[in-house]
Amino acid sequence: MLSYECNLRLKITRSGLGLTQKTCRVKVVLQPIAIASLLRLPERKLTLTVRDRLTDLPLLTPVQGEIEIQHQGTCIQITARVQAIVTLTCRRCLCQFNERLPLQVSEVIWLDATKSDPKAWPLEQEVPLADLMEYLPPDGWLDVGQWLYEQISLALPSQPLCRPDCRLDWEPEDVPALDPRWASLTRFDRLG
Ligand SMILES: [Zn+2]
Repeated sequence: MLSYECNLRLKITRSGLGLTQKTCRVKVVLQPIAIASLLRLPERKLTLTVRDRLTDLPLLTPVQGEIEIQHQGTCIQITARVQAIVTLTCRRCLCQFNERLPLQVSEVIWLDATKSDPKAWPLEQEVPLADLMEYLPPDGWLDVGQWLYEQISLALPSQPLCRPDCRLDWEPEDVPALDPRWASLTRFDRLG
């Protein structure tokens, strides 16, 4: 479990009945949300305004944006529209550079008490690829912070470059002498 703090604004929108939008602002430590509690909200929907420094991520600025969580009976739809500036290390020149990371991601998490309980899994079972989905128990908890952490981690570039044409502007000083037995292979290098 991650430890972090955030400023959270809870926005509850009431439609119909002539009620105008009501906005609650609370400052809390972002905690897992009881899935069943979503059922009591109008449209079974919770909108979180996030401005948060997630630990263990190379963030220059806090993550800012909105996360929408809607209970749809048999599943939860969770959608994030957030952005942050991340500090990355170029894989070629090893310099550090900052990059804006916009993230728009949506995921369906199915609610199934049996599939979400590892103790109920058979010791060995072939699972079709389509069944590799995320499950949570209907009376369980949704760790929004952990989910957001995972989504941002997945969105970080695996091969970051400070610029598309980044080249090393230095050559290694001690170039090892070429083994004559491999000399003919350099031809292929040049062809490639
Ligand atoms: Zn570079």
